[in-house]
Amino acid sequence: MTTRTDCLQRDAQDPLAALRDRFDLPPGVIYLDGNSLGARPKAALARAQHVIAREWGHDLIRSWNTAGWFDLPKRLGNRLAPLIGAGEDEVVVTDTTSLNLFKALAAALHMQATDGAERRVIVTERSNFPTDIYMAQGLSGWLDRGYVVKLIDSVEELPDVIGADTAVVMLTHVNYRTGYQHDMRATSALAHAAGALIVWDLAHSAGAVPLDLNGDGADLAVGCTYKYLNGGPGAPAFIWVPRRHQARFTQPLSGWWGHAAPFAMAPDFAPVDGIGRALCGTQPVVSLAMVECGLEVFEQTSMAALRQKSLALTDLFIELVEQRCADHPLGLVTPREHARRGSQVGFTHPHGYAVMSALIARGVIGDYREPAIMRFGFTPLYTSYTEVWDAVEILRDILDRQDYDVDAKRDAVT
Ligand SMILES: *Cc1c(COP(=O)(O)O)cnc(C)c1O
Repeated sequence: MTTRTDCLQRDAQDPLAALRDRFDLPPGVIYLDGNSLGARPKAALARAQHVIAREWGHDLIRSWNTAGWFDLPKRLGNRLAPLIGAGEDEVVVTDTTSLNLFKALAAALHMQATDGAERRVIVTERSNFPTDIYMAQGLSGWLDRGYVVKLIDSVEELPDVIGADTAVVMLTHVNYRTGYQHDMRATSALAHAAGALIVWDLAHSAGAVPLDLNGDGADLAVGCTYKYLNGGPGAPAFIWVPRRHQARFTQPLSGWWGHAAPFAMAPDFAPVDGIGRALCGTQPVVSLAMVECGLEVFEQTSMAALRQKSLALTDLFIELVEQRCADHPLGLVTPREHARRGSQVGFTHPHGYAVMSALIARGVIGDYREPAIMRFGFTPLYTSYTEVWDAVEILRDILDRQDYDVDAKRDAVT
């Protein structure tokens, strides 16, 4: 049976323990929500000060060149690339995940159409994060060319559903609610065998699990930087277009940043060669600059080391909850199998929202997702084994004493 002393010992031997000092976390908080909004790298404060006071305040418009503002989406994309198995000049950090998904889906539909394929179906999961479904519905409805979004209820349906009418399979690699992780290689191969393209959303994967986009045969991908990558609230997202698809990649948000000669101010759009064609317009530079502070921390370690600790943390959490809260109606929704698990764990409880509110009031910050799921994110860069122990003890205490308000009111955003 694991004890708190065991956890202290594991922390003392943890090769990643020193990285916690790269983050500013408030005292008295056990932060298990880095899958929703990553913690702040300490460096971000000085970096923001520099961007605002020096680059904006002093250097003014010259900073587009002297501070490299114009190149930021590509520079950050290249720093992010090794974390997701992307090559040089295949990623840009820009816009939002929703917008990048729109571009990726539109590009994929276009690639299929220019191949003369009469494929009109976008396959995705009903359990996908809603914006992904909404964007697919919005695009397909707006195009008004008979495109339909087909929602499946289980991964097992994929082999039957993906067929000759499938244009694109669009999946979120790690499910936001359950933490279920798809097999990227096998599912990409399945899509390709049927002549479909596959678009992956890496919102809960980038910086959380090792990824090999090129090696696994993905076609296009998008993802978030404000979750596991610690880029800051609302930080721009990313889009990956592999070299093999770049020449055929065209997207409808053809703004001047994606133009071959943006400063020629020509009246006709001509896309630039390469990943730059995934850009649209002027970027939120201050927010974009913060992304670099998170990526710098990742450069101190490897995704393999992070994955090892992530699995150890989630294993420990599952083990402790099941042992120490065994008398309570908790249901694990996250796969036990390592290969199918992301870096988060969800448990249902009939009063999940109330229990989570009580946890947050006592400094254990996770979050709640319908239906009845308490969601806990584990971020090996700054979460310790002892914190996992302490979080479970606080959960046990709340449950044992029924110290939660079943009428707790929902916040608009949690
Ligand atoms: C977090 C998340 C998003 C967020 O999209 P925004 O455009 O940043 O609001 C999209 N898709 C998935 C799967 C997510 O988990």
